Amino acid sequence: MAGRNFLFVPGPTNVPDRVLRAMVVSQEDHRSPVFPELARACLNALKPVFKTTTAAPIIFPASGTGCWEAAVTNCLNPGDRVLIARFGQFSHLWIDMCQRLGFEVEILETPWGEGAPVDRYLAALEADKQHRIKAVLVTQNETATGVTSDVAAVRRAMDSAKHPALLFVDSVSALASIDFRMDEWGVDVCVSGSQKGLMLPAGLGVTCVSQKALAAAKGATSRRCYFDYNDMVNANANGYFPYTPSIPMLYGLRESLAILAEEGLENVFHRHHYLASGVRAAVFEGWKLKLCAVAPQWYSDTVSAIMVPEGINGADVISRAYRRYNLALGAGLSKVAGKLFRIGHLGDMNELMLLGAIAGAEMAMLDVGVKIEPGSGVAAAQKYWRANSPVIVAKDAAA
Ligand code: PLP
Repeated sequence: MAGRNFLFVPGPTNVPDRVLRAMVVSQEDHRSPVFPELARACLNALKPVFKTTTAAPIIFPASGTGCWEAAVTNCLNPGDRVLIARFGQFSHLWIDMCQRLGFEVEILETPWGEGAPVDRYLAALEADKQHRIKAVLVTQNETATGVTSDVAAVRRAMDSAKHPALLFVDSVSALASIDFRMDEWGVDVCVSGSQKGLMLPAGLGVTCVSQKALAAAKGATSRRCYFDYNDMVNANANGYFPYTPSIPMLYGLRESLAILAEEGLENVFHRHHYLASGVRAAVFEGWKLKLCAVAPQWYSDTVSAIMVPEGINGADVISRAYRRYNLALGAGLSKVAGKLFRIGHLGDMNELMLLGAIAGAEMAMLDVGVKIEPGSGVAAAQKYWRANSPVIVAKDAAA
């Protein structure tokens, strides 16, 4: 098909040209005397992205899923109990993994469209007088439903219950796009990946581990080998990896972290909020449709999951957008399959790119029979963006 493909799934996201160019390199010796400069540049520049001075960023040749597995197998013993809310396909998959790995999972079933139920986390922690729960798991941004949860509030619940469990956060579709604060929120493991806010291809599992979690990893008896934190931290201390890393991906990561630092992390968050608000204007004011997220407190700034009207199959909108307009939209997963389509608005993104996605989604919806006014979403987003601007904070105020 002529023209470019419009990639608007919530990951993998568009890779900036600067990052693409940085990755075009010949292979190098990953045990050379100069390799540590590249490894350290990446690991050090990740710290401000996780907002940590004390935790250890770790880069696995993996994706977010590998980092989920690393978190539970490094820090827990077989049969340990974890507490987690299920409100979308990704929180579901983490639960499924924990069960398959032999952990006991206490699940807070939550309607899809809502986020982490902090009061129920609190109640479960208060009821756990014997501290059988060893880790609290939270999905910061549920990509399947476009719902962002309040991780700081979960930490407050843990503190209020005086519960010593570790806090593991899935920030796969939030990190570097929605605020995340490792140290301030007392997060023990943050799980993420390269292909979303970090604007790289998939292939790196990017995670960050607190000193408390590293101490737990020294004694935890769950079996692991390739994803062992201790092996990685020991090798990283000398600027190396315990096995062959993807050097082009590391060059790409160094460049993407430089781009984030140049914009300023707080500006990156503001831009995501401003762009997401334009998409929401298209959904609500233009198309008169609903999001899967049921209340503003849950609205995600990285992905909007848009409910299609009764009688319309969301998969038809997605298929039409792809085949006719070369536009990739995100599918409805599992429980919400067919009920919605998703627009990812994270990473290297601006207003005009998003207007393409909104226009394409609008045409695809019209083609499959959704009764919306042609141009209404585009007009509503334009109106929002013309009346607002991404809040620019002074560079030295940005993290
Ligand atoms: N968690 C969330 C919130 C995600 O969105 C995804 C993937 O989209 C994952 C975990 C799994 O990550 P990966 O596909 O990188 O393994």
